[in-house]
Amino acid sequence: MRLLIVEDDASLARGMLKVFRSDGLAVDHVARGQDAINVVRLEPYSAMILDLGLPDMDGLAVLKQIRQAHITVPILILTARDATSDRVNGLNQGADDYLSKPFAIEELEARVRALIRRSHGKPEPELQLGQLRLDSASGATWLGQALLEITPRERAVLGLLMTKAGSVVSKQRLVAEVFGYDEPVAPNALEVYVARLRRKLEQSGIEIVTVRGLGYLLRAI
Ligand code: CA
Repeated sequence: MRLLIVEDDASLARGMLKVFRSDGLAVDHVARGQDAINVVRLEPYSAMILDLGLPDMDGLAVLKQIRQAHITVPILILTARDATSDRVNGLNQGADDYLSKPFAIEELEARVRALIRRSHGKPEPELQLGQLRLDSASGATWLGQALLEITPRERAVLGLLMTKAGSVVSKQRLVAEVFGYDEPVAPNALEVYVARLRRKLEQSGIEIVTVRGLGYLLRAI
């Protein structure tokens, strides 16, 4: 799952990036409205956080252009303005939610999660392969009755492999799922996560197969 943050306040943006990345989302950040419009056309985002006070254009104009282009990404508007008219304008122009600054980061997290859930139409199903189960909503992962201890990024890799169990998932697809495009990614970062997952899945009857030159495949042995 991929989140776009449009915010020109650098320290606020850093804080949000940290929180959502530690939640296991791939997060991209831009500070200008025009960049947001360009990026959102290229990437399939699960949700977008949009600040209204941007240096190059008004956030409401960004919202309008995105909706006119028939891009349906769920958008949460974030602003220092607290006027009811702004809130109404934003919602009328196709925003899905609205949060006034200052806000508690926990509230933003909860609302973004709700947006993503709603955009998927229904609560995500539990993924299962053999004795491995992953609850997509809570992120909890079990091997049989035992809770499996995995990091958010390991879970992102495992979740995508489970969704496509039995077929090959390309490295590019996995990297895109797990990292934001502006995040420095070590060349072997994905291999490191896969190696850790393999250790945790030892003796479980489930293996991650390397398909040379193509990617990885998860299967029950
Ligand atoms: Ca701003």
